[in-house]
Amino acid sequence: MKKIFSKKSNRIKLMVLPFIILLCAGIISYSYLKSKKNISEAEAHQVVAQSYDKKQAGSVESIIEYGEKYSITIHYPFTKNSNIDQKIYSDVILYMNNFKDESNGYDGKQNYLYIDYDSYDIDGEYISVSFNTEKGIYGYAHPEHTVKNYVYKISNGTRLILGDVILEDKTSDFIDAVISGLKDKYEEAKADGENDINALVYEYIAANPYCFYFDTEGMVLKFDVYSIMSGSQGIPEITIPYANVKRFFKPELKISYVENELEKQQEELSASKNIKKAVREIDKNKPMVALTFDDGPHPEYTRSILKALNQHKGAATFYVLGNRATSYPDVIEEIIIQGSEVGNHSWSHSNYSNREVVDIKEDKDKVQNAVKAITGSAPETIRVPYGSTNATVESSVELPIVLWSVDTNDWKDKNSKVIIERATSNIKDGDIILMHDIWGETANAVPEIVKTLSDKGFQLVTVSEMMNARNVDIKKGKKYFSFLKK
Ligand code: ZN
Repeated sequence: MKKIFSKKSNRIKLMVLPFIILLCAGIISYSYLKSKKNISEAEAHQVVAQSYDKKQAGSVESIIEYGEKYSITIHYPFTKNSNIDQKIYSDVILYMNNFKDESNGYDGKQNYLYIDYDSYDIDGEYISVSFNTEKGIYGYAHPEHTVKNYVYKISNGTRLILGDVILEDKTSDFIDAVISGLKDKYEEAKADGENDINALVYEYIAANPYCFYFDTEGMVLKFDVYSIMSGSQGIPEITIPYANVKRFFKPELKISYVENELEKQQEELSASKNIKKAVREIDKNKPMVALTFDDGPHPEYTRSILKALNQHKGAATFYVLGNRATSYPDVIEEIIIQGSEVGNHSWSHSNYSNREVVDIKEDKDKVQNAVKAITGSAPETIRVPYGSTNATVESSVELPIVLWSVDTNDWKDKNSKVIIERATSNIKDGDIILMHDIWGETANAVPEIVKTLSDKGFQLVTVSEMMNARNVDIKKGKKYFSFLKK
């Protein structure tokens, strides 16, 4: 018993047909209605045509079969590119035939196969096709949901794997970005024991080099149901906007669409990220001090420090690590909203003094871009990791290098009383005080530090506010330890 709707030929071939299937458009999961009535030709084409509107690459071919043992609905694209069409068609038919063989084992009970897809023609350069498959075999507890992607470079007809797209030495950074995106999107991923989801995503990507495709917004990764999260999440899926994923791409992967889209996305981002920063008034003639916190952000401690600053209308500068900033973008936003400042403290705290110019620049830019993507503007100063710098570093960072004049050594002693003592004794107008917002003892010390310094008449200002107030000539690559009043 077989029925085929073919959009290309614009007609319906009907063989024996006691049953009809109606596809409920817009419902992603399968939904069939058995009907004794014959569906009209017009209606049948409406179903296919609605589906067609969603597709962008080529036309839609549909295989719809209904038998005693199974029902089958398959939609697949016909792109007129023979490499793609042959590969997809043969995969689809193979999958269908395997399903039929499987179905034969369950006499008298109906099994089903439902395959639909999304496709994208990326400016005539690449074609992406992403299939979602749902297979219900009688006797199995759950239907099986799987995904299958195809990305073809049209000019030479090659099908891309992840290794064709992502730079080899950027692969783990890329996967980390995927994981952090999943954690932002799925509560379950966030709540999951850190390492479980990380390991599962790494494993899945290693075993599935076709797990991605390109759409109009960015690079999409899809995961089979149950592969990295519980079944209730459906098919885990994450889109990394081109603006964020571009830095992992191999240079030979030139997608002009991406270049154009990138510019647009960055403009939109800056416009949409008009985060309301607290309005602050600084009295240039009054004493001031700059509290600085390195190595964060931290979801708990950074927030408690911001709260303490609020008590005395103070602000501080947070020299953040890029990899932590992208994990806690909300905290970065809160820093800005509170009136404090975000500075660059490298991506992952590697010692810049041991690195080459290109590596330093790239690492620094990655943080600039990440912060800009969150807040709409990039950091204005950098504090190099360990305060370790040399001529190479100074010529590479392209930002003023802000160090410190008062070191609380909070990370060493981890003693709130000692930290308070060091941050409040012998403080001069224009000092820059170094602390770290990844330690509870520091966070606990801050309310007292803020109160004491305020009581002594210091304004608690950001590094940039202090630079402006002191009218110092600010140069890229130059080191600043303090802005003491002359
Ligand atoms: Zn540090």
